[in-house]
Amino acid sequence: MGASERVGTKQNNMPELPEVETIKNVLKPIVIGNIITKIDVLRETTILGNKDKFVQSLIGKAFTDVTRYGKYLFFHLSNNLVIISHLRMEGKYYQLEENEPNTYFSRVVFHLNNGFKVCYDDSRCFGILKLSTEDEYKKEPEIIKLGQEPFYINDVEYLLNHSKGSNVPIKTTITDQTLIAGIGNIYADEILFDTKIHPLTPCRLITKQQWIDIIYSARKILKEAIRLGGSTIKSYHPGKNIDGKFQSNIKAYGRYGDVCPNCGTAFRFIKAGGRGTTFCPNCQQKQGRPLKVALIGKVAAGKSTVLDVFKSYGADIFICDNYISDLYETKEIAEKIAKLFSLDFKDKVDKKLLRQYLIQNPKDIKKLQSFVYPIVSEKVSSFFKHSKAKFAVCEAPLLFEAGMEEMFDEIIAVDIDEKVQLERLLERNPDTAKFLKQLSDKNNSFEKNKKKANIIISNNASQSELIEETKSVINGFLSRLD
Ligand SMILES: [Zn+2]
Repeated sequence: MGASERVGTKQNNMPELPEVETIKNVLKPIVIGNIITKIDVLRETTILGNKDKFVQSLIGKAFTDVTRYGKYLFFHLSNNLVIISHLRMEGKYYQLEENEPNTYFSRVVFHLNNGFKVCYDDSRCFGILKLSTEDEYKKEPEIIKLGQEPFYINDVEYLLNHSKGSNVPIKTTITDQTLIAGIGNIYADEILFDTKIHPLTPCRLITKQQWIDIIYSARKILKEAIRLGGSTIKSYHPGKNIDGKFQSNIKAYGRYGDVCPNCGTAFRFIKAGGRGTTFCPNCQQKQGRPLKVALIGKVAAGKSTVLDVFKSYGADIFICDNYISDLYETKEIAEKIAKLFSLDFKDKVDKKLLRQYLIQNPKDIKKLQSFVYPIVSEKVSSFFKHSKAKFAVCEAPLLFEAGMEEMFDEIIAVDIDEKVQLERLLERNPDTAKFLKQLSDKNNSFEKNKKKANIIISNNASQSELIEETKSVINGFLSRLD
């Protein structure tokens, strides 16, 4: 699979500054000097404002220039008229000969006096066209609120001031068009990878030097992307038979499943402000406390020893299984679960009854999980919020099943060979053999989840070695905390 396909199919993204700049450059020779002879409005809501005025004002006018600011395009015409265009997700312009059929998603068609027409095509209809004038267009509400492009930011002081006390993640902050114009999802991932900043870093922790790095990196990356004609993504084509070439230079964006070209660590995929975000957990380490650590591991792998070592460093600990057990003891939860499955218990969950029921109705396990998991994940997030420690460690065997992985900065998996595991279990309890089937199911699901962990601690030797290995992991974390 080529890089462009991967970028296009993994996530939907709108054209950003380099793509719009490229579109502008493609459009200039197509329109400049030509007169609009007729306009077909095939979808009225594409035009912001009065449609008839739009058409009547523009007929007979000649294009004099095409310019861009942020992700906006401006068509300049005679009589001081300006068309403001924002492509949003899927907007595109196509030049066609007058006798060719319109493109399938044509919304507005400009017929020109040179035998060509320009179709504004937009499958998702988020894009807009708006009539304005040379005097007014920069003052239009959508334009006046735009921040500066990275090319024009010479003093980062206002970025620092804006970020003071703010917990908004840096990824969200740099894609805020009212703060900085032109950076979207693709280039934000690239810029943060380049500057080695974790995308979820609260922007109040970004130092002046880091802001300078971000702006410098944004300029470098955007310039290079413009030079290569932008990135060809699913939603973007600068023009017929023209492709952007920057996608082969993309290092982080959309590369979940690959390893970091700098250090070989597997990229992680998370949501930042609702947008898919790819980053290298090794190169882009999280600043600020507490460091949120998840712990998973096989039965008898030594998780409690690892937790004890964390405790000796002052970590706050949360154990999901214990919390669920406590939940089952509460009346409120017991009543809800009893109602959910029409079972007969009141003050606390009758675990035996519930287990029997689930054995007979295995499909309802999912129903129970979708009731319990959100309660657990809410509790974990409040545990993080209240932790004043350097580390907030959560033993969470249900991490992936509950979709909680994005809440954590680091995922530690404690592994053990099955042979050693069995020996240890038999030492603890000779009846273990009975649970072998269950054990192998659990081991299989661990093997799958282990691949998503950042750190794997193997515990096949002595306990003191497990303690030493855990300490060295913790010291690694400490070296990057304040
Ligand atoms: Zn890396």
